[in-house]
Amino acid sequence: MQSNKVIPIQDQTNNTSGISCHSGAEDLLAAAKSANKSEILGQYAKDYPKGPHDQPQSMCPAFGSLRVGLRMRRTATILSGSACCVYGLTFTSHFYGARRSVGYVPFNSESLVTGKLFEDIRDAVYKEANPELYDAIVIINLCVPTASGVPLQLLPKEINGVRIIGIDVPGFGVPTHAEAKDVLASAMLRYARTEIESGPVSAPRNGVSDKPTITLLGEMFPVDPISIGMMLEPMDLAVGPVVPTREWRELYQAMDSKVVAAIHPFYTASIREFESAGRAIVGSAPIGYEGTAQWLENIGAASGVSTAKIGNAKDKFLPMIQTALKAKPIKGRITLSGYEGSELLVARLLVESGADVRYVGSACPKTAWSSSDLDWLEQHGVHVQYRASLEQDLAAMKEFEPDLVIGTTPVVQKAKELAIPSLYFTNLISARPLMGAAGAGSLAQVINAALANQNRFDAMNSFFEGVGKDHATGVWESVPVDRPEFKADVRRRMEKAKAKQKAEEMG
Ligand code: SF4
Repeated sequence: MQSNKVIPIQDQTNNTSGISCHSGAEDLLAAAKSANKSEILGQYAKDYPKGPHDQPQSMCPAFGSLRVGLRMRRTATILSGSACCVYGLTFTSHFYGARRSVGYVPFNSESLVTGKLFEDIRDAVYKEANPELYDAIVIINLCVPTASGVPLQLLPKEINGVRIIGIDVPGFGVPTHAEAKDVLASAMLRYARTEIESGPVSAPRNGVSDKPTITLLGEMFPVDPISIGMMLEPMDLAVGPVVPTREWRELYQAMDSKVVAAIHPFYTASIREFESAGRAIVGSAPIGYEGTAQWLENIGAASGVSTAKIGNAKDKFLPMIQTALKAKPIKGRITLSGYEGSELLVARLLVESGADVRYVGSACPKTAWSSSDLDWLEQHGVHVQYRASLEQDLAAMKEFEPDLVIGTTPVVQKAKELAIPSLYFTNLISARPLMGAAGAGSLAQVINAALANQNRFDAMNSFFEGVGKDHATGVWESVPVDRPEFKADVRRRMEKAKAKQKAEEMG
């Protein structure tokens, strides 16, 4: 049933002229601010402070929100953005096994400028809002609709009992896909909190725990919450849901825990929601021997558990972790970088396993919830770089001459070119158990196998020796001559054409 309420069409004529997904971040930001998005962008600027680069250096940040939506049961996710962005995001979602349709409301200059896009989004939401199928519908404004001020906040909060969550996730306001997960998770927590405040809500699928629960903040390998649950047991605590949740009702359960473990430290807006509900937040994670000891103490103290029970948990699990670390040592110099937000935790585990870690770069910002990891790593001689740029990651690789590079795609690509064994952080490191004794053993396996690859790299290097580089790559009868002046000329012409186009638009 469509509501009779009239939703005002915003006149966006002045805001959208000339804005496209090729516009620079500054132009998009200025357009968004003049289109009633100042408040949300101001909040993003506080929550997700920018680094040395003004644009994401990894995948489109909106992928983080999209992934969170697609992984939730009974949730439909709809994108509003340029077709090229939606194509890329849909492709990446299916590459990572979404097995779910991604909704899309297309637009053209006319529907964007007249405000018809908002009406189209509204119609799409009404059509999708089937309570038999969905608990919630998520609509994500990408760069251009955000810059154009498409007012998702004016959508009804609920249609036929289906919750409607509209969020802006522009690349010029949310620096990484990790933080985009926080944008959606916090919007859902906020919604769930208002539901809790206004009356009874559904109980968890497996019933309410008879022990106090600890909510875990941050996506992790499925074994990790189980390992954490086992470590909490001697303290008469139980593991709660993992946020971002897989189901709407888990949000209530997450809010119900008195203590929240910020396993991933970049969930700034979600932490604000928990804190406003009076929940205590504990940073870091039960990782390695020292990390686990400290974490159990902090969680126990925040939950009001007796020192004796904390001691029981430590006595039971720390010796197992120590044995696992000793059984599988790692020997070699490593530099590490990633954009998942768990980089500091992985580095701690590597150091405790015996690795000589010199550099950790994280695309995520510095927050209070990783400060103990930062201190610990610095005490162990590791350089930690928050909001690390690709250039900084590559410079570290050059300076420290590692035996193994763990990094993002472009970093690993460069390492391979230099015949240095390397591993992708996202696919090979963050997709493994890291917590407790299970984590201590599992990292060593993949790291040691990669370290042992140096001979193969050397063999390949000598096999391909002399086949040329860059413009001269390949086997040639006469090696191509580089013509940097041609490239410079083309660049000059393009810049001139762009300036001419801009002048024509202005006048
Ligand atoms: S939504 Fe923005 S950041 Fe994402 S692909 Fe499109 S232009 Fe790039």
